[in-house]
Amino acid sequence: MTDIDRRRFLGGLAAGTTAWAATGGMPLPLGSALGDAHGPSGAPGVGIRALQPGLLEPAFRTLPLGSIRPRGWLARQLRIQADGLSGHLDEFWPDVGQSQWFGGDAEGWERAPYWLDGVIPLAWVLDDTALQEKVSKHIRTIVQRQRPDGWYGPYPADAGARSYDLWAILLANKMMTQYHEATADEAAFRAIEASLRALATKVEQAPLHNWGRYRWFEGLVPVYYVYERTGDAWLLDLARRLQEQGFDYPAFYRGEDVALSTPRRGLWTWAKHVVNTGMAIKAGALAWRLTGRDEDRTEPARMLGVLDRYHGQVTGMFTGDECLAGKNPIQGSELCAVVEFLYSLEMALAVLGEPWIGDRLERVAFNALPATFSPDMWAHQYDQQVNQVQCTHNPDHMWTTNGPESNLYGLEPNYGCCTANMHQGWPKFAAHLWMTTPDEGLAVVAYAPSEARFRPRGVPATVSLDTDYPFRETMSLAVATEQPVAFPLSLRVPKWSEGAVLRLEGGGDIPLQPGTFHRLEREWRGTTRLSLHLPMSPKVTLRYNEGAAVERGPLVYSLALEEHWTRINADRPGRELPHGDFEVRPASDWNYGLALRNGQVESGIHFEERPVGERPFSPEGAGMAARVSGRQIENWKLEHGWAGEFGPGVRESTEPLRELTLIPYGCTNIRVTEFPRVAG
Ligand SMILES: [Zn+2]
Repeated sequence: MTDIDRRRFLGGLAAGTTAWAATGGMPLPLGSALGDAHGPSGAPGVGIRALQPGLLEPAFRTLPLGSIRPRGWLARQLRIQADGLSGHLDEFWPDVGQSQWFGGDAEGWERAPYWLDGVIPLAWVLDDTALQEKVSKHIRTIVQRQRPDGWYGPYPADAGARSYDLWAILLANKMMTQYHEATADEAAFRAIEASLRALATKVEQAPLHNWGRYRWFEGLVPVYYVYERTGDAWLLDLARRLQEQGFDYPAFYRGEDVALSTPRRGLWTWAKHVVNTGMAIKAGALAWRLTGRDEDRTEPARMLGVLDRYHGQVTGMFTGDECLAGKNPIQGSELCAVVEFLYSLEMALAVLGEPWIGDRLERVAFNALPATFSPDMWAHQYDQQVNQVQCTHNPDHMWTTNGPESNLYGLEPNYGCCTANMHQGWPKFAAHLWMTTPDEGLAVVAYAPSEARFRPRGVPATVSLDTDYPFRETMSLAVATEQPVAFPLSLRVPKWSEGAVLRLEGGGDIPLQPGTFHRLEREWRGTTRLSLHLPMSPKVTLRYNEGAAVERGPLVYSLALEEHWTRINADRPGRELPHGDFEVRPASDWNYGLALRNGQVESGIHFEERPVGERPFSPEGAGMAARVSGRQIENWKLEHGWAGEFGPGVRESTEPLRELTLIPYGCTNIRVTEFPRVAG
């Protein structure tokens, strides 16, 4: 524990009901910047009651759900999502619509809570009252069906006498905290509290196992949420018990097995399961609030270092199809892992306040997340590949343990977990773009067009960001306050943005240091306009087998291919359009190598702006394109349905030099991203 950490920790222990942000000795007025502390009836409202003893204060606090609204392309993207599968899944998919959570007889474990975990933030980020009412109806059903002993409806009557995996309970309570945060619904809060009490009794009788054991830290989210609003000490006892019973990821990441790729048709393991991995990235950060141990605080960075080294992909993801599968760009990454990793980064960023986490968050959100959906967000893949030139039903697939449909675009390719869990990606990203600081300031931790409302020192303030970033380098910020008020505005300066500049209206340029938060302290009056310029330089990195990948700012670029979509499985239940299953094949040549000039690829790349489309993440909507030279490589072909492997070194090709168009990875449905190199 560092001295500062120790002070924070002791400050927390000593603070009692007096709220002092220990970092700067600044008073933390309750119920102002963070929302109301108490609901109308005196029950806990959405705001935290006080800095509670025993929990270290996070670097940032997330804003109550509904405080951040999307604008520009992000608003369009979220609207596409609500009009697609997310807003309609319960209307035709039995595992949600007829879930046991809602009194039906279909799946009664993780699927309905998963769906709600994404659709709740979607409804409130968009301020979509129809979707909010739909969600509220389902939540009311869950609350009404809760048993007197605290267990939610689907918990089997005989679960106390047998082994029952508690994972879905952890998930459901995490989901319910968002509903309470958005609505201040007292019954929802009491339901979470009662469920956690039942959980606390249960884990004394039988320890966590299977999914619950590997996802123990998900339980910390609702436990901390309730604790910060009630101060009841039994909740921290429960948090400690979850940690004791949970899988020891730090030990596993010090071992050798984590470095090994799961072989084709290899062994499925809990510890290398890609969704567990994506979730576990936040474990150390959440645990640190309880333990104050440095090794917990640094665990997210250490885990990611191991994953990048042995399983990393250029999108910022790691492979897992569905266990960790090495760096080959033809291995897959499961959609559940993408959205869970994003949420983990958001939570780790809030606790740790480190700018590199925001860089990674954007990289995954702008590349891996949109790539795995059809542009209309009615269809998704189970596994996406960085080099993905064909998506077909393929019994000869190369996944480690996933099935032949894993890279189809469809309703539930391979398995329905992603169908239930995919919804949280964009809404939670939007809800975490801005966070408050302990000294009543605001930090922008990731950039996308949006506005945030908050109350520094009790004064209503709105901060808005208009931009086509990540397709552009510039952003317009406006800070509007109803009365003059002083607060710091912290801007994340990405590590890659060499030469970043902030300009105040009527003022000079302020140079920004990449890889930091730039803190702007001033008294804000009326409306103040600022512009932020984050220069993006092209970069070529050599990856698996020295394949070359093109990046610029937070975006990765892939070869734009003509696509041929074929509808399949039309006779299967649930595949009625618009939620059908599709194969995608290339309708243009994909087997190009990138040409080197003077040994460099960078010097030959030219970027050109295009309008950002109504569907921002579609081939035709791509807001930026790159021109690069390449040659076709005749003997680079499909092998067993995937792009064949190529070895290191520069490849021979007698084909003529051609101009190739690359578009952002997230805009593609099929793609080549890691290229062999050819002579220029
Ligand atoms: Zn999944």
